Amino acid sequence: MTNTSRDIDATLIDTASAVPADAAARADVAVAAPEAKRTNLFDLERVQLEDFFEQVLGEKRYRAHQVMKWIHHRYVTEFDQMTDLGKALRAKLEQHAHVHAPSVVFDKASEDGTHKWLLGMDPKNAIETVYIPDKGRGTLCVSSQVGCALNCQFCSTATQGFNRNLSTAEIIGQVWVAARHLGNVPHQQRKLTNVVMMGMGEPLANFDNVVRAMSIMRDDLGYGLANKRVTLSTAGMVPMIDKLGEVSDVSLAVSLHAPNDDLRSELVPLNKKYGIEELVESCVRYALRKAGTSVTFEYTLMKGVNDQPAHARELVRLMKAFDRAVQMKGAAKINLIPFNPFPGTRFERPTDQAIRAFQKLLNDSGMIAPVRRTRGDDIDAACGQLKGQVMDRTRRNAEFRKQVAQRERGDAAA
Ligand code: SF4
Repeated sequence: MTNTSRDIDATLIDTASAVPADAAARADVAVAAPEAKRTNLFDLERVQLEDFFEQVLGEKRYRAHQVMKWIHHRYVTEFDQMTDLGKALRAKLEQHAHVHAPSVVFDKASEDGTHKWLLGMDPKNAIETVYIPDKGRGTLCVSSQVGCALNCQFCSTATQGFNRNLSTAEIIGQVWVAARHLGNVPHQQRKLTNVVMMGMGEPLANFDNVVRAMSIMRDDLGYGLANKRVTLSTAGMVPMIDKLGEVSDVSLAVSLHAPNDDLRSELVPLNKKYGIEELVESCVRYALRKAGTSVTFEYTLMKGVNDQPAHARELVRLMKAFDRAVQMKGAAKINLIPFNPFPGTRFERPTDQAIRAFQKLLNDSGMIAPVRRTRGDDIDAACGQLKGQVMDRTRRNAEFRKQVAQRERGDAAA
């Protein structure tokens, strides 16, 4: 299913609650169904919510717009506080729906203004969401999965293993929690200007839920963000990049991290399936769909691994080939991210001098390559440090701990 579908996702609306309109009209005397049987309205993008009002509640479609404004603009989740809805409609909503946001397990503020939330998704799993304020903008880094299955070697999330995909409600719920905390008023006082799907998980491995959540982020009745202000970051799931291009116009970021297949396959195992050439070709197709689209390539700099002048030169060749293919100079943007160490990792951050030298080589070749400032370091909210709490179905966490213990024993023996 795509975000343009007018069909209601059968998994989202419990068929037992799909009562005919005349029965729905008597709903104000009915008892609300248990929470698990009711539809979480956070799961529905605009067209689905309109369908829900028409098909399930027997109401006019425009009523859905009123409810979206209550939820996403005023942060109200109780139907009895939605005062411009009639009493009977509120009772019907109570019976068939609820608005359930993730629970805040804790939140922490960094000295630099960065804010991190640990959000409980179910009794055993929690994910992290981070807000990063900067001059004239506020960016929220949102998670798409509990853990991640892709096992990129330098990533803290990967060491936690993988449990499950997040639902649309659990993804948009992160935006809601942050926006409410910030007092964000869409279209007026925007504290939240950008969303990056760069938190825990591979967004394209949870395609339908991510696309639907991004549609709510961009909807005027949701968070009203422009397409280019919503960025999806992928490790390179090539067929899904093409699929994304068919349904969405969001900005694309690709976690590249290495300029050749040998090194990239070591750092990002997904590269063994979709190599660099294939990945860059899919990025070219994504950029060519719409004139002026640029693609950002994320490059985490790791000391002695991918930070040498030869790597920079290879990277320049790759990026220039991309620019030529889309016939636009500067279409390939590179974000340099100095590695943020986490406990047990074997990788290190390069020296500032090495980072500057790498950047200079790119700049001298005409590439735009800003170095991302480390933010939220004091609260472990920097790039690549998100962990959450994951019930690991992959046993990777146990394996990681075993490797760390072995390394430590080896170090002690040496
Ligand atoms: S870098 Fe992204 S895709 Fe790779 S393991 Fe970490 S969260 Fe998953």
